[in-house]
Amino acid sequence: MAVNENLRTPIVSVMGHVDHGKTTLLDMIRGSAVAEGEAGAITQHIGATEVPIENIVTKCGDPSLKDRFIVPGLLFIDTPGHHAFTSLRSRGGALADLAIVIVDINEGFMPQTIESLHILKRFKTPFVVVANKIDRIHGWNPNKNSSFLASYNKQSERVKTDLDNKFYDIVGELYNLGFNSERFDRVGDFQRNIGVIPISAVTGEGISDVLMILLGLAQKFLEGSLHYTAKSPGIGTVLEVKEEKGLGTTIDTILYDGTIKKGDIIVVGSLGDPIQTKIRALLKPRPLSEIKAEEKFQQVAEVTAAVGVKISAPNLEGALAGAPVRVVSPETIDAITAEVKSEIADVQIDTDSVGVTIKADTIGSLEALVNELRKEEIPIRKAHVGDVSNRDIVEVSAIEDPFYSVIIGFNVKVLPDAKEKLQTTSEVTLFRNDVIYRLIDDYKDWAKKQKE
Ligand code: GDP
Ligand code: MG
Repeated sequence: MAVNENLRTPIVSVMGHVDHGKTTLLDMIRGSAVAEGEAGAITQHIGATEVPIENIVTKCGDPSLKDRFIVPGLLFIDTPGHHAFTSLRSRGGALADLAIVIVDINEGFMPQTIESLHILKRFKTPFVVVANKIDRIHGWNPNKNSSFLASYNKQSERVKTDLDNKFYDIVGELYNLGFNSERFDRVGDFQRNIGVIPISAVTGEGISDVLMILLGLAQKFLEGSLHYTAKSPGIGTVLEVKEEKGLGTTIDTILYDGTIKKGDIIVVGSLGDPIQTKIRALLKPRPLSEIKAEEKFQQVAEVTAAVGVKISAPNLEGALAGAPVRVVSPETIDAITAEVKSEIADVQIDTDSVGVTIKADTIGSLEALVNELRKEEIPIRKAHVGDVSNRDIVEVSAIEDPFYSVIIGFNVKVLPDAKEKLQTTSEVTLFRNDVIYRLIDDYKDWAKKQKE
């Protein structure tokens, strides 16, 4: 078996608590692959890094591996900010095909780690857990870029025991969260067990193991879902909406199917009617070697999935992180516009029934929050993307049932006039947090106290 031309690059997201090492891990994957790969170049995308299969097999030290894998490489998403993973969605599913959950082995699980696991479980996304910062274990003797086992076997018995203890704390925590896991080299069936890989993103120990396990997961779980048609109209997701000097509002987009070209007409999801616009420029980052150049970006004529690309076009101000981007033709524009509109409408909820009111920062986080609340059987009156507004307060203050005169806000601000209103409106209770399950726990604790 060798690389299959019809399979696109799997999209990998790196999730985890702030400071546990996401950025360092990506830098290491990027850096070491650049340093060691002769064949195949690392491509820096907008919001993502592509590591071709050649670089991965070189890194793993066994060129024959190339024949065992069918994917052309891995596309790692550089999640902007620690919450953007909730905008990594596609049509009510996960945008990422695979994920790495990173946890500091010395600190264990934190709220964002747990949240990542909840979301992966819901989307049934295959993932590995990496237990990072093993070089911080007292007495650890680093072996730069070595595989985990090679380095582990060279450590003293005391250090090994120390690592094992910390490691099994993580396995125990995973068990409590409903996942069976084992050290990656002991996992026989990745369908039943999550592989946990001890690594150091600083010394590079275990990185080759991470890449190998990801390729293995892609092989085992994704073969059926990575087929694509290169020349079909592009389909992607907005990762971030960004102002750029000289360009105005642009959308950083992960394209997961088909092709997108300069001059194409696209439909982009927004809070009102979907945006219909014509692509002025497709932009990729300049190679590092040309960093002196005036412009940060270089134009490309077209790109094919899976890629990260910046789209410059008129009227993108209302574009929504997590919303779809679709290339259309005169024949398809009406139907696809309607589809995009209903996709956003499916996530936002408007009812007259009793329930809580939800505000969230992106369409993806709103969807995640709605799903978690439904799981808890907490009724929802209204769920919208956006900051908490004066109108929200007024509406909610009119609700008679105190359990539901509640606003639950995820990663949103309270607008100034709403803040004032809130101070004089004692009947409205506002919950805000940037961790979804914390919000739900806070609400449930509060509701319980109210009942007592
Ligand atoms: P992020 O917030 O998850 O992106 O975390 P960063 O990658 O920014 O890492 C946070 C801090 O931990 C930085 O100071 C890193 O240098 C450090 N760090 C990350 N990985 C390791 C590791 O494997 N070993 C050690 N000793 N420090 C690490
Ligand atoms: Mg970071």
